[in-house]
Amino acid sequence: MKLNKIAHIGIAVQSVDIALRTYRDVLGMDYQGTVELTTRGLRIAFLNVGDTLIELLEPLTPTSEISNFLQKRGEGVHHVCFEVDDIVEALSLTEQGGVKLIQREPSLGAEGLPVAFLHPKSCHGVLVEFLEKSGGPTHVQLQADLSGSTP
Ligand code: ZN
Repeated sequence: MKLNKIAHIGIAVQSVDIALRTYRDVLGMDYQGTVELTTRGLRIAFLNVGDTLIELLEPLTPTSEISNFLQKRGEGVHHVCFEVDDIVEALSLTEQGGVKLIQREPSLGAEGLPVAFLHPKSCHGVLVEFLEKSGGPTHVQLQADLSGSTP
C-alpha cells in the first residue's frame, strides 16, 4: 500500500465567496476557479498550495452532504484526499487491512478522476478519500467507457 501525496483537502464552508476572502485574499492561495455540481448540490472553489489543492465546499441545497456536515459540526475540514496509482487495488488492500469502505466502486470526482471514500469511523474520525492519478488504470477505463457511450 502506497499513498503518493495529499491530492486535496476539502473544507466545508457556509459561503465560498466569504471563505475566498481569507484563503485567497489573505493567505494568498492560488485561486483556480469555482464550479457548481448541481447534481451533488455543491459549489466548489479550487485553490493551489504547491502540489496540493484546497477545495472550499459550499452547499447549494439544504439536503446536500455538506449541509448535513455544517449542521452537525459547523465549518471545518471535511475530508482529506490521497492520490494513489491504482484506486481499485488501493481499496482492496485497505479493506483487507480491516478498514471499512463507504464505496467499493470508484466514482468520478470533481476533477474528473476516479475517487472513493473510506469510512471515518475506521480512520479515527477523518473522512478519507482516495483519488487515482491521471492516466491510472481505472481512469483510463472510465474514459474509454465514457467515449464509448458518446455517438
Ligand atoms: Zn475530495
